[in-house]
Amino acid sequence: MQNLAWIDGTINDISKAKISIEDRGYLLGDGVYEVIRIYNSHPFYLNAHLKRLQISAGAIRIDIPYAMEDIKTTIQGLIEASGCSDGYIYIQLTRGRAKRDHLFPAGAKPKMVIYVRELDPIPEIDAIKPQHCITLADERWMNCYIKTINLLPNLLARQQAAEAGAIEAILYRPGEVVTEGTRSNVFAVIDGRVMTHPETNLILSGITRRIVLDILENLSIPFSEEPFTLRDLEKASEVWITSSTMEVNPVGEIDGRSINGFAIGSICLRLMKEFRKQIAENCFEDVT
Ligand code: PMP
Repeated sequence: MQNLAWIDGTINDISKAKISIEDRGYLLGDGVYEVIRIYNSHPFYLNAHLKRLQISAGAIRIDIPYAMEDIKTTIQGLIEASGCSDGYIYIQLTRGRAKRDHLFPAGAKPKMVIYVRELDPIPEIDAIKPQHCITLADERWMNCYIKTINLLPNLLARQQAAEAGAIEAILYRPGEVVTEGTRSNVFAVIDGRVMTHPETNLILSGITRRIVLDILENLSIPFSEEPFTLRDLEKASEVWITSSTMEVNPVGEIDGRSINGFAIGSICLRLMKEFRKQIAENCFEDVT
């Protein structure tokens, strides 16, 4: 496939696509984004991602310069033109190009860039191994429900995790309340109940998180969207993290302490399988 970028109606190879160095996304991090997984040439849960883009853009007062239906058509066109089967769509929306100034520029036109990139097809469930995580203080701002391109605290924590041999840093706020990962939501089975942080300003409302909660509901597996602490996490019998690109990913060790003997727990395994069914239903069976 060819990695392609769409800017203002023009499609180019991603290496040739260009925007101004005065774009406020580049200068000031003044923008928001979305990442949408593509399976079998179909964007997975596209509507939910576009809804979240509207929430993020609205929260920082950027008007989306295109109609939602046009954005969907553009995404479909990009996927077809690229020949992408497995990959992801990246959408970035910034306040546009203007002379550098903190104040919102009068008359700047918001800039939307959409590109498609290839990803490896998803591995068989049998090939998925539980991963190491570490815990770190959540040093982000108080509006984590906005999917801002300002990712510096996430990047620093993720880098620290990688240097410690971990796939993700599980973040906690004062009071040792576990919020989420640097690029994922966190679930733990504590005293037989699945727990995840509620949808507040302290986490991103993950699309994968919502799918997992819906699956739990359908399977009648007890869950609570309630804060839990590092101390609770220490007694968790299962932990997993979720995101559009990582799906449902089992955690086998946190800060050197193994979980469930480093084996995938039974609830997590069921969710991994059910999640695959969601992918099949949405992207493989009779999709138009
Ligand atoms: N939290 C954060 C901070 C993230 O960056 C992501 C990935 N975008 C998620 C959670 C998971 O969100 P989603 O399931 O929508 O990919």
